[in-house]
Amino acid sequence: MQSKKITRSEELFRQAQSLLPGGVDSPVRAFRSVDSQPLFIDRGEGAYIIDVDDNRYLDYVLSWGPLILGHANYDISRVICSTVQKGTSFGAPSPLELELARRVMGFYPSMERVRFVNSGTEATMSAVRLARAYTQRDYIIKFEGCYHGHADLFLVQAGSGVATLGLPDSPGVPAATANLTLIAPFNDLEAVKAIFQKYPKQVAAIIVEPVAGNMGVVPPVEGFLEGLRTVTEENGSLLIFDEVMTGFRVHRGGAQALYHIKPDLTTLGKVIGGGVPVGAFGGRQEIMDMIAPAGPVYQAGTFSGNPLAMAAGIETLRILENPVVWEKLEARSKQLKVGVLSILRKKALNYQLQSVGTMFTLFFADNPVTNWASASLANRKNYAQFFRNMLDYGVYLAPSQFEAGFLSTMHGEHEILFTLEAIERSIV
Ligand SMILES: *Cc1c(COP(=O)(O)O)cnc(C)c1O
Repeated sequence: MQSKKITRSEELFRQAQSLLPGGVDSPVRAFRSVDSQPLFIDRGEGAYIIDVDDNRYLDYVLSWGPLILGHANYDISRVICSTVQKGTSFGAPSPLELELARRVMGFYPSMERVRFVNSGTEATMSAVRLARAYTQRDYIIKFEGCYHGHADLFLVQAGSGVATLGLPDSPGVPAATANLTLIAPFNDLEAVKAIFQKYPKQVAAIIVEPVAGNMGVVPPVEGFLEGLRTVTEENGSLLIFDEVMTGFRVHRGGAQALYHIKPDLTTLGKVIGGGVPVGAFGGRQEIMDMIAPAGPVYQAGTFSGNPLAMAAGIETLRILENPVVWEKLEARSKQLKVGVLSILRKKALNYQLQSVGTMFTLFFADNPVTNWASASLANRKNYAQFFRNMLDYGVYLAPSQFEAGFLSTMHGEHEILFTLEAIERSIV
């Protein structure tokens, strides 16, 4: 069991229960699915987080993906500080929005126009509203186990957070809303085609995590994304790549660059805010020009495009522009992968390490995971034990089997070696 002293975290969590529902502001943080309780974090330093009891952990959660340059990166902190001193929000245009837009478009040329928002959830719900307006259709298709934020229309078979809690749908989502969301298994093109047959000319869009990350990392099988592109074109529907997680994570240009597919709309978040809340959606100009005030589709936000998020995002993307930075990330990712596979072989464990770019999941499952049905066969009890062992060793993994782990530029060779040693001793 837990051998680290975590008395201050325990005490804060006790107090938190009487202040915040379940003691947290986002459910997976509560550590319930790993039979544990959350650590309260005091600060981050590079690849590490330090809890309020002064325990230091090598962090593979990285705020659930955004911190690709690690915690408290010097350059990011510096631009945030200098921006803060000039005011944190104006509710009026600032030049920073143009610079971040140009940088985002440089990496994502399919985004001919972009709208900045404050979270991934806002980006996806706005993108779907736009797709519905553009096509004048109501149905959307999403995939089982994919997560697109917590808007009503997406809380239907929605992956990790929901799956971890065992809530198939959420109370409070009207059936009338959920009924407009049609579900197919991830990686199952035939199921998608069948939906189009059943609902001819009624599907506004397919929204997909092009590499699923919210049921653990599940890459697309060959031909899947190409098939989605073709079937949407044939049916006059839009293809939305939700790259809130995969953007700058599976490739600097996202899954669309990695697999050479051009979606109609793309949603981004996480990395492009440099650790400050942000989201963005964009795509073909003709579609984006339907957004108010260019067009009739309403979308707005008090803090949208605020200078803090823009400045942190610009600096992050500026650093990522250097190809050497990405090459180093990939090298560390490979080192981790090779090391884990060798441990699995040595211990004759039949687990599945699934990774793309800087995202990875070790599934405690006997067979490769290709969709939610195969993900859900993973042994959650063994994962929970492994998670607690790793934490005790000083490695902070996602507190759920159905989440991705992330690397940052601050995870060096030494950190990976330490991780491998921890895995070797912790795996069950
Ligand atoms: C995290 C995530 C979201 C939601 O973003 P928030 O900023 O948490 O609202 C949407 N889609 C995907 C694929 C995500 O990983």
